[in-house]
Formats: sequence, structure tokens, C-alpha cells
Amino acid sequence: MQNKCLERWGFCSVSKMAKVCAIFGGSRGIGKAVAQLLAWKGYRLAIIARNLEIAQTTVNHLGAGHMALSCDVAMEQDVQNTLEEVEKNLGHVNYLVNAAGINRDGLLLRTTSEDMVSQINTNLLGTMLTCKAAVRHMLQQQGGAIVNIGSIVGLKGNSGQSVYSASKAGLVGFSRSLAKEVARKKIRVNVVAPGFVHTEMTARLKEDQLKKTIPLGRFGEPDEVAQAVVFLLESPYITGHILVVDGGLQLLI
Ligand code: NDP
Repeated sequence: MQNKCLERWGFCSVSKMAKVCAIFGGSRGIGKAVAQLLAWKGYRLAIIARNLEIAQTTVNHLGAGHMALSCDVAMEQDVQNTLEEVEKNLGHVNYLVNAAGINRDGLLLRTTSEDMVSQINTNLLGTMLTCKAAVRHMLQQQGGAIVNIGSIVGLKGNSGQSVYSASKAGLVGFSRSLAKEVARKKIRVNVVAPGFVHTEMTARLKEDQLKKTIPLGRFGEPDEVAQAVVFLLESPYITGHILVVDGGLQLLI
């Protein structure tokens, strides 16, 4: 009975007991909330970010059985080495969450090419590189699940966020195409698209004004996005889906 269930989740017999998830951008904000929920559910986690000290602090709070690694998602070799290190220490990577992201908001005419490149490299190229490396591992195990964090502005657009929006819109096209590419290999790829969420990324926004534009009247919390991420990771018959978690913002913009 258990084997049947595990098969339905897309695991082959050699990895049926493994519940290893690599979370890029897992040290802070939304990624950290995903880590907390998955740790509570018994997963073994690799918390990956550029700042190893902060990633290690997050791991210390999660309890035993997890690891912290330093990696820049925009560097292909770095990403490959990191996932190999995870496999060596925790076992097969069955799940991948891409929560690494940056924003450099501003009107297009004031956006430097450096800021364009850094957003595209982290948010879009980084997602491609982590997925490429993880899919290689998942193909060997004949199964796996990926959730990439997009954004509501990648679907709707937003003034002052043209480059960021482009990176997130690209992430949607990439994720849906990859979902088609690997579905027959029992690998699922989904996207969670949040609205405004309380993290360091939104700390400088004028919340009092912005929350009036949200039907639910408030910013979301990281754990409210984490619920959606974990739902998609664990839903065996959903792939290529974009799950919006925005307090109803998309109804109005
Ligand atoms: P935070 O700034 O709180 O956390 C970002 C995380 O990404 C950190 O762990 C950071 O660690 C990591 N990171 C950033 N750049 C890199 C890199 N080059 N390589 C590896 N890790 C990196 O952001 P949020 O939690 O708010 O955002 C998480 C995701 O959700 C992002 O993709 C963001 O675009 C998206 N999102 C957020 C929204 C919000 O309102 N907060 C709304 C919609 C989407 P370190 O700096 O140490 O590398």
C-alpha cells in the first residue's frame, strides 16, 4: 500500500524513503518559511543562499538532519557542485524549491544595465540553472517535483518593475515548457506567484497605501505562501500550474 502511494508520488523504489528538498533562497523570507514547514513535515533540507552564515543560522533553527550551503544561483558550476554536495550528504534530491530572487525596482529609464543583468541572472537564469541541475538528478531517480517562485507582476506587469516583471514572466514560460518536457519522466514543475508578502524584499514599500489596493486588505505572510508551495510539491497530479497567492490582488490589476 505504501509502495503504491510512493509510486504515485513519482518515486522509484531506490529512493522511496527519501524526502530531500533543496531550497535555493531558503535562508530568509519565503524560502525560509517553506523550510520551516517542510522540516516540520519531516523532510531533510538543504538551505542554500550566498550568505552561508545566515543559511547556517536558519538550519540551526530547523533542528538536526539539515544542511546549509553557499551558492550563487547565477553560476552554473556553483549550482551543479552544490546539488552534488547535497546528494552526497543528504541523499537523492527529490524536491527543488527556487525562492532565490532579487528586485531592483525603478522606472526603466533609470535602470542601469547592471541592474537589468543582475535581476535576469538571479531570477531567470538562476531558475534555469537550478532546474537543469536538479532535473539531471531527478531523471536518475525517475521522479521529482519542482516549485519556482514567480510573482503576480510577472503575470500582470507593474510600473517601476519592468525588468523584474520580465524575469518573472520568463520564469513562467520556462516552468510551463519544462513541465511539458519532463512530465513523462514523472517530474512535475509548478509556479507559485505571490503578491505583496512581508519579507526583507518588501520592507521599504509604503504598506499603508499599498494594502488599500489588495482585496483582503493586507500583505501576505511568508508561511501563507509556503503552504501553497508545499501543496504543489506534494500534489501528484498537478504540473505546469501557476498558483497565485496574492490576497486577491489579481482581481483588480
Ligand atoms: P528575501 O530577500 O527575503 O530572500 C531572498 C533569498 O534569496 C535569500 O535567501 C537570499 O540569500 C537568496 N538569494 C538572493 N540572490 C541569490 C543568489 N544570487 N544566489 C542564491 N541565493 C540568492 O526575498 P523573498 O523571500 O521576499 O523572495 C523570495 C522569492 O519570492 C523571490 O524570487 C521573489 O522575487 C519572490 N517574490 C517575493 C514577493 C514579496 O512580496 N516578498 C512577491 C512576489 C515574489 P542571499 O542574499 O544570502 O543569497
